[in-house]
Amino acid sequence: MYQPRLETMPREELERLQLERLRRTLAHIKARNPRYAERFKGINPEDLTDLSQIKDLPFITKDELREAYPFGLACAPKEAFVRFHMSSGTTGTPVVNPFTRADVEQWAEIMARCLATAGVTHADVLQITPGFGLFNGGFGFHYGAERIGCFVVPIGPGRTLMQLKFMKDFGTTALAAISSYPLRLIEVAREEGFDFRETRLRVGIFGAEVWSDETRKYIEEAMGIETFDIIGMTETGGVGLGIDCKAHEGIHVWEDHYLVEIVDPETGKVLPDGQEGEMVVTTLTREGLPLIRYRTRDITRILSRERCACGRTMLRVARIKGRTDDMLKVKGVNFYPRQIEEILMRHPETTPEYLIRIGKRAGKDFIEILVETREQDETLRERLEEEVYNFLGFHARVVLLREGELPRREGKAKRVEKITD
Ligand SMILES: [Zn+2]
Repeated sequence: MYQPRLETMPREELERLQLERLRRTLAHIKARNPRYAERFKGINPEDLTDLSQIKDLPFITKDELREAYPFGLACAPKEAFVRFHMSSGTTGTPVVNPFTRADVEQWAEIMARCLATAGVTHADVLQITPGFGLFNGGFGFHYGAERIGCFVVPIGPGRTLMQLKFMKDFGTTALAAISSYPLRLIEVAREEGFDFRETRLRVGIFGAEVWSDETRKYIEEAMGIETFDIIGMTETGGVGLGIDCKAHEGIHVWEDHYLVEIVDPETGKVLPDGQEGEMVVTTLTREGLPLIRYRTRDITRILSRERCACGRTMLRVARIKGRTDDMLKVKGVNFYPRQIEEILMRHPETTPEYLIRIGKRAGKDFIEILVETREQDETLRERLEEEVYNFLGFHARVVLLREGELPRREGKAKRVEKITD
């Protein structure tokens, strides 16, 4: 553990610390940004005497963060900022998160914890494939690695052949990536006759996209590694909000820095532990853009607040099932792309590449699942259609493609295409 005393703090003490930091965060907003403070009119930090009162505070959404572009909700004077990161603004204005010096230190601390949780030590070689730029990934891993003192290969995204070469030449033992990138590495390795078992690679730390348990198994087998699922987003201060430990029984959230709630995405009501809903995050130690009750749109549930086999007391959430805005609806059934992925990946004949085409044709819902297969087999198509019906309750047309037919992308994978005519 990077900070054993903090990571194993008794729950009572942890909750006292959370309450104190929640008050401090609210006071910080009130002192620093009148526009932001408007949201909390009539609520004073000293009125908060119990964590459960957080449910009386208003939510903040991604759209509201966008509307504040660039510094509308920033809570420090401009000269205190050292840098900003932003979320990909695929649809319009991005969300800008300005970092103070203390925010950079906070990020380094939680990322060092994440790396240590995945078993990375000063003796490791960490190859960082997320970008070093506006989007947050690369820097977070880099700062964490500096705290741990391991050797860093700061290669960034793309250049897959060079990634494989460096992995061998520099003796990479740990790989950081967005979760679809290992699939690309595996594919290129196959084409090149590159064997991961001849490298020193043993750990993968992947996140930023929803990836199913089946994909995880596939990556672990193909690369001969143990993988760790890391979560976090630009809005909350970057990757590193939490990670699963060697017990792999849920993702630990660093609760001394973040307070999480699970709410009903429709009504906003707080749900009891164990029930699935949208994760809402309150930052407890961020200065530049502190967030109170941020609607992440990630769907998960709280698995446990008990001490884990690893000794940590930080609560655990389930791996992210989907995002509220990825939810698809066909013929009256709601589902997430990950559920289709799980069905496809159970069949070794398929490659991990697929595309869900969904929409309306002549006023009627239709869904097509395009999946690449290593061998053409009519019975496979029928079996997949039947499984989709059995597991999800609707009929989908499955189209088998040959390996390599779907376009490959650098960066996040495209898994859904919406069509209307
Ligand atoms: Zn644990």
